[in-house]
Amino acid sequence: MVGAGIVGICCALALVEKGFCVHVIDRAGPAEGASYGNAGVITPWGCVPQSVPGIWRKIPKWLIDPEGPISLRLGYLPKFAPWALKFLRAGRSKHIPATANGMSALSRPSVDLYKALLKNTGHEQLIADCWGLYIYRNSSALKPDDVKIRLREERQVPMEIVDGNTLRDIEPAISSDYQAAHVIKDQARAVMPGKLGQALAQKAEFLGVKFIRSSVHAIKPNVDRNWELTLDGETATTGKLVIAAGAWSAGLLASVGVRVPLEAERGYHLMFTNPGVSLRHSITDVEATFVVSSMEDGVRSAGTAEFAGINALPQYKRAHVLAPLTKRMLPGLNTDDTEEWMGTRPSFPDSLPCIGRVAARPNLYLAFGHGHYGLTMAPKTGRVIADIISNEQPDIDLSPYQAERFY
Ligand SMILES: Cc1cc2nc3c(=O)[nH]c(=O)nc-3n(C[C@H](O)[C@H](O)[C@H](O)COP(=O)(O)OP(=O)(O)OC[C@H]3O[C@@H](n4cnc5c(N)ncnc54)[C@H](O)[C@@H]3O)c2cc1C
Repeated sequence: MVGAGIVGICCALALVEKGFCVHVIDRAGPAEGASYGNAGVITPWGCVPQSVPGIWRKIPKWLIDPEGPISLRLGYLPKFAPWALKFLRAGRSKHIPATANGMSALSRPSVDLYKALLKNTGHEQLIADCWGLYIYRNSSALKPDDVKIRLREERQVPMEIVDGNTLRDIEPAISSDYQAAHVIKDQARAVMPGKLGQALAQKAEFLGVKFIRSSVHAIKPNVDRNWELTLDGETATTGKLVIAAGAWSAGLLASVGVRVPLEAERGYHLMFTNPGVSLRHSITDVEATFVVSSMEDGVRSAGTAEFAGINALPQYKRAHVLAPLTKRMLPGLNTDDTEEWMGTRPSFPDSLPCIGRVAARPNLYLAFGHGHYGLTMAPKTGRVIADIISNEQPDIDLSPYQAERFY
């Protein structure tokens, strides 16, 4: 397998539990990519794609606002435009219910699966039960007929709409500027996403998975239907190859003729390491689109979508944009001590990953492209990959995740 992010780790665990001999190759240690610095939200209720009807109206305003949630490097526009058009098409009303169902199938068992994976590891505390608070400064912006709320209602998500006072009863640190919230119950948060990945990688290693530190420079099929991998200074051969290399997966696959519209959607976080406040829940400022959560080592504010190409250097001013926004949300927050981070979401235009086989490429399996929900969807992805490789029928419909949907 290529990739020891949270998706690769969960695939490795599910495969080793089925008796496979698993090698995971990563140029870095386990969970050091996007899986390290995310916002930690693990929600069984994930069903709202990034592209929804009417989003195109908001994009120009977001793009020109230096504090806005989206940034696009102008020189990258020609490469980005085809993906952006697919993104807008994916947000048409007629596509949304099927997309929401595809997201839901991977998200629904997330909390239970993580708890089962962590059981008896001594790291059970890396997941905390919580609610998701979607908060609004202007109560008139919270429209009960909003497509996002409707999608959740239709899928029986346990939620309620509350006013500002009730919101502060739930999470006292939130500013009185916020007048309303959409509260989603019965979810969880990773209190250190990187540590969660590392704890699961340790468990996988204990069960027999071998983690190899190397770049994978190329993959190619050989005459025996095996796969050859060019590593740092050596080659390796495997009977079955899983690509779980996050945002880098498309580059590896292009060389064997598998082309998918995967975008490197860069996000940032700012850790407040001496925050002076503590939060019980995952809090999303809906209008400014960033998420705030307490972690073991402080309060993490995460968000932004930057499109600049996979190899562009980080622009940490994008992380520091989050400081005044988070202070506005949490007036008691001490913003003196911060740490910044950038990571790359592997994003498809329709917010669904690619999971499964590739037509015409025997023994090649895809497990990447989870965009904004990779932490949530990783455990179920692992189960599905292990079922497919074992020739067992997964208990969910796989058609939403086929790479061929883009052709
Ligand atoms: C700011 C931010 C906030 C987020 N918040 C949340 C959230 O709250 N909840 C949620 O569910 N999701 C969230 N996400 C999304 C989530 O983090 C990702 O979807 C998920 O981490 C993707 O996991 P992955 O294993 O596919 O990729 P990664 O974690 O990026 O792992 C890919 C791995 O592949 C390795 N690799 C790649 N190419 C090669 C190669 N050629 N050779 C060797 N190794 C290679 C990399 O080194 C890396 O370790 C967030 C993302 C960001 C950026």
